[in-house]
Amino acid sequence: MLSTNQEMTIGGHAVAPGERAAIRLPVTTGLNGAELALWVHAVRGRAPGPVLALLSTLHGGEWFSVDVVRQVVTGLDPEGLRGAVLAVPVANPPALRLQTRNMPDESDSPDMNRIFPGVHTWTSDQLVGTIVREVLAHATCLMDFHMGPWGSAFLDILVGDDFPRPGLADETERLALAFGLPIIRRASVVGGFPGPRASIGYAGGVLGIPALGVEVGGVGFGRRLEDRWRQMTVDGVRAVMGALGMLDGTPDVRPPRQLVYRTGHRVNPTKGGFLRSRFGGDALGREVEKGTLLGEVVSPYTFETLEELRAPVRGALFYVARDYPVRPGDWAYGLANTEDGTARWVENARTIGAPR
Ligand SMILES: [Zn+2]
Repeated sequence: MLSTNQEMTIGGHAVAPGERAAIRLPVTTGLNGAELALWVHAVRGRAPGPVLALLSTLHGGEWFSVDVVRQVVTGLDPEGLRGAVLAVPVANPPALRLQTRNMPDESDSPDMNRIFPGVHTWTSDQLVGTIVREVLAHATCLMDFHMGPWGSAFLDILVGDDFPRPGLADETERLALAFGLPIIRRASVVGGFPGPRASIGYAGGVLGIPALGVEVGGVGFGRRLEDRWRQMTVDGVRAVMGALGMLDGTPDVRPPRQLVYRTGHRVNPTKGGFLRSRFGGDALGREVEKGTLLGEVVSPYTFETLEELRAPVRGALFYVARDYPVRPGDWAYGLANTEDGTARWVENARTIGAPR
């Protein structure tokens, strides 16, 4: 909790109660002589409260959430806010520049979401180290946004259930449910994937704060769907801020039923080719029966079908893809298993749109 007279200094700048600031954080100098910097947007309410950190584009190809962060930050009024929001819209500028997932250099820290808290001197470690020092050090809750690269789209929130601090996993799940997505994955994020060197494993496992891996949306699906996913995410962030006590009067955006699952299945191609998708962006969240044909991989050379992608279980689609070229292993379909007894449905009996 950030109290009213507590100092919050970011990059040498003391953010006062009621202040909104865009702060430039110098990180290092590149071989091209240019200084590499991060930008953090701080909105501090006049009243005390939690400090919510928002991270976007740790993976450079995942820029869908940049505009989500912009909308959240510009839509906040410090007068009605308790606590503060610290938002990094672009955590990995060199990778965004090339629109690649990983840092485009020859380091052995290429993936910025696998190297927390950034202990080495590689560019990516220094970016992570700056985020940890200047942003996460103040945070009492983290939301880190990820989605697929162009052509794939996601719809789930990852919450850890192996955080060592008692009660933290349930508190994180409460916030994830408040976000309002229909699908939530609860998994061992510290001991399992993606581990304590990823943002949420580090925040939950080491810092002991609620940490949500928000995976919503994607690009290449047209304005109607993308606008819907963007709005869903902005509304979800504000709903979580309501659940944290940072904002008053945020609407309850939870759907009538939410799936909390533990077993996920990746149904990705084993061969490269063109994916002809039978379950595109509109199908996100839909439940399919075991054996359903989800898509086919077709050779762009011979036009023959190289592979059929079928649902290995009955489950809900938490990621899908449009027609696009795929390499072996690229994102196609993710299924939340609803038949093995590890998933549960949370029923929300309430009036849609009623204030919290
Ligand atoms: Zn990512």
